[in-house]
Amino acid sequence: MTKYVADKLTELLRVNPFYEICGLITDNGDVIEIANVAKHKANNYVFDTLSYYSELRELKRLNIKVVATWHSHPHCNSEPSTLDIEYFLKSEYDMVIVSFDGVRELKHA
Ligand SMILES: [Zn+2]
Repeated sequence: MTKYVADKLTELLRVNPFYEICGLITDNGDVIEIANVAKHKANNYVFDTLSYYSELRELKRLNIKVVATWHSHPHCNSEPSTLDIEYFLKSEYDMVIVSFDGVRELKHA
């Protein structure tokens, strides 16, 4: 993860201290935010399906690949939750979690 990505995620967390925010990180080092449509946004996140798939389509058109998903933990440290680990193991992407203690990366081997 580049310093740009880490700084950008930290900044997004700072301006969104109440609810989890989430999105994608691309292989050209960009951070994309996807709307969180979870019912309990303070401690959970669910990508808005329409924005998620329209982003994926647009990235594919531009030949840009998604390398990781990211989300914030505004109310706890960057330790992955049980659900986070479950998602990570099922996902083809790496996972990045940003909290006030820093930015943590879960990488597939
Ligand atoms: Zn989490």
